[in-house]
Formats: sequence, structure tokens, C-alpha cells
Amino acid sequence: MEVSEKARTEVHALMRKKLFAANWKMHLRPPEAWALITALRDNIERDSASLLRDREVLIAPPAILIPAVAEALKGSPIKLGAQNMYYEEKGAFTGEISPLMLKAFGVTHVIVGHSERRHIFGENDDLIGKKVRAALLHGVVPILCIGETKQEHDAGRALEVVLRQMEAALGGLTAEQVRGVVLAYEPLWAIGTGRTATPEQAESIHGAVRAAFSQRFGRDDAQKVRILYGGSVNDENVDSLISKPDIDGALVGGASLKAESFAPIVRAQAS
Ligand code: PEP
Repeated sequence: MEVSEKARTEVHALMRKKLFAANWKMHLRPPEAWALITALRDNIERDSASLLRDREVLIAPPAILIPAVAEALKGSPIKLGAQNMYYEEKGAFTGEISPLMLKAFGVTHVIVGHSERRHIFGENDDLIGKKVRAALLHGVVPILCIGETKQEHDAGRALEVVLRQMEAALGGLTAEQVRGVVLAYEPLWAIGTGRTATPEQAESIHGAVRAAFSQRFGRDDAQKVRILYGGSVNDENVDSLISKPDIDGALVGGASLKAESFAPIVRAQAS
């Protein structure tokens, strides 16, 4: 029986585990972090066997809280991420943290190239590419953020910008090296603004990113790569976003700071 391309795509979408990742940014002190992790664990671990069958949950706290959050997550299926790292293993790099240090605390994922790192701290494509490569080399999953500014969006250049960012970060790698990377489409005009991309807008970028990934690294890998959406995700818009076949979860800032708002996101249901 001939299986249509559409049916094949839908089956692959079902096979990809959704990822709901919390980016705490520069928020929360130890007692607040502890209380939030405790509340999240209570909520998620009630039915984690069924809940986490088709999804993963990740917390990326500020670096200084990683040891405390690692302790609070002991025995939990919730994964621990970092918001940034440097690409060298060790050395005279004041203020930086290496992949080896992150791994020592059980960090499994690292956000790379977040728009705040690009635009506030001046990280360029070259540096971001080195960080992605270092993460992959050390077995830490990079969550590579790509996204256009409002100006670029208004000029109709969104796709051109995100494809350039992806190519700059991954272009020099082979399909084998790139395996495991997670992409996060985060339009800047939607981050922290309360203005989210519509599911259709996001899907059109996600689909095109997957197609470009397919051209570069092959169809099989493109069907496996997860592409998250980020930008003012909340418990009201998450269901419709993840209902789109190329949206494989969410990277969440503001709404991840409270269990009342993050737990319902983690429980999102595609229609
Ligand atoms: C983010 O910074 O990654 C983000 C998506 O933030 P927010 O959810 O607050 O828009």
C-alpha cells in the first residue's frame, strides 16, 4: 500500500517526544527555586509514567542555581539544563562555565544562541557555532535558538534570517555530528511581549526549517529533529501550537517561573 507523504510526516510527528523546557533566565533565588521545583515535582510525578510517555520536561535555571536544582531534582524524571556555556573544556576564561562542569552536575541540555545572548551580550554566529559543536562533542544536547527581530519580521525576512542562523551554527557539521541537536524557533517580537506567533505563522517557519534541515542532513534526521517554539507561550496558547505537526514542544520563559503556569503547559494536549 502506498503511504502518502502527509501520513508519513504525521507518523513521524507522533514519534518525536515533545520537549517542554523552562528558561528561568536571571530569576529566582534558592528558596524560591526550591519551592518551585517541589511544586512541579508534586504535579508531574503524580502520573509521570503516563505523562512522560510522549514528552520530556527540562528546567534551565541560572548557572549559580544548578547545584541546588540538581539536588532538588534527585530521583526525578525532570531533566536539568543550562542557559549558556563556553566552548572550551577549561582554562583562563574568567566568568565562564565549561561543558565538563555542567556535566558534573547532571546537566543534559544547554540553551545556545538565545536572542538575549545574541543581542544583549553580542554573541555572534561563529561563537554560537563553536558552542553547539562543543556541546555535541561532550554529549550535552544543544538547544539552538534561532529567530528574527521585529524589523526583520516586518520586512518579510523571517525565514531568510532563521535559515542563515541555522546554517551558520550547523553548516560545518555532518548528519552524524548534528544528531541530537534541538532547534528552538523564537521570534524576538514574541519573547516576553505577550504577543505570540500564531500556530500557522510558527508552523510555516518550522516546516521550512525542517525542510532545510532535510536538504542539509537528510530526510531521516530531519524527521527526528525536534523544533520547539518559544515566545510568550502560556497555558492558553500551548495546545494549539503543539497541534501543528512541526512544533515539537516549547521553550518557555515567563510562564515557567510558577508551577501554576508551567505545569499546565507541560500537560499540553495536541488536538
Ligand atoms: C524565552 O526567553 O526563551 C522565552 C520564550 O520567553 P517568554 O516565554 O517569556 O516569551
